Amino acid sequence: MNIIVTTTDQIENRSIESYIGIVRTSAVVGNDVALTDLFSSTARKYSRKLEAIYDKALRDIRLQALAVGANAVVGLHGEFEEVFGKGKTRFIVSLMGTAVSLSPSTQNESDIQGGGVSLYDIRRSQLSLMLTRKLENQQTNPSEEDWDNIIQYALFDIAPLLYKRYQVLVSETISSSSPTEKKLLLDNFIPFMRSLDYDSAVNTVYGDTQTAPYVFCDVVKACDLFCPEKICSMLSPENKHTIISLLESDKAFYTKDDLKRMMVIADFLDNLPDTGRYVEGRGGIFSKTGMLLVCERGHSSAVELGGHCTCQIEGSGAICNLNVKGITEREVATIRAFKDKIEILKSLINNE
Ligand SMILES: [Zn+2]
Repeated sequence: MNIIVTTTDQIENRSIESYIGIVRTSAVVGNDVALTDLFSSTARKYSRKLEAIYDKALRDIRLQALAVGANAVVGLHGEFEEVFGKGKTRFIVSLMGTAVSLSPSTQNESDIQGGGVSLYDIRRSQLSLMLTRKLENQQTNPSEEDWDNIIQYALFDIAPLLYKRYQVLVSETISSSSPTEKKLLLDNFIPFMRSLDYDSAVNTVYGDTQTAPYVFCDVVKACDLFCPEKICSMLSPENKHTIISLLESDKAFYTKDDLKRMMVIADFLDNLPDTGRYVEGRGGIFSKTGMLLVCERGHSSAVELGGHCTCQIEGSGAICNLNVKGITEREVATIRAFKDKIEILKSLINNE
């Protein structure tokens, strides 16, 4: 699927099946640049900068088109806006166009039926192979040109490798990557994942839940990849923090099977084993119940039944906040909200 972007309203030999919507992107240029500088042939620096901005804008337009299921953008045009303030001039460069769905190319179809291969398909496979080799070498991130190809040729089969790179990049403290390529990956990975279909994206992301659990949870949330089926296969007490975090994610459509599995997840969380214990406090001076909670970290604090540890974690200064099940107040609230969602789904699905 090549995303065609054109300034014309029609595409030769193809008909527009449906208009999906407007795609638009903007960038701010410069603090002290005059418009004449931007277009002056002597100011090469600015023209290069403008070109880079234009390339990025075009990439954004293609990504947005992919994300809404379009295969072309027609009527592309740009706008410049000059903004004054505090004695400085800035320019807002915007690109916009209409995302459309094109009918399949009739010429291609007859060629493919005859057993032929298009140059486009060859190029796509070549790029996919080249990028697979590049990314499998853990030190390399896609360059700007690579991203143009990934987006233009919709190279979805390299998604697992991109995910691996993204996990490494987000979790590493000292980066060995070039700052430009790092920024490209951070900017493009989530929109790219959002443009994948749900099943492929779920299989990619849930394929590695262990390397960097926080990154995994963040990607699931950012891309609406809540998957009750996959979460049901992770139900084990040592995964409880990851599972609870995933309850904050969503998916676009919920089925009856999803609801059943969500009830299984809620039931699992209701029956988590105790990781801490309660002991008798001395003479009730600690709390009304006279009970002390000894949390899994070994702190003792006076709490009501079901309360959370009030001790500081050694060395960090943060409050421990674990209850007898080893979960925090925020996690308890997340589970409560999840159960509310189950009730809402029950009433909506049964009323169908
Ligand atoms: Zn504690």
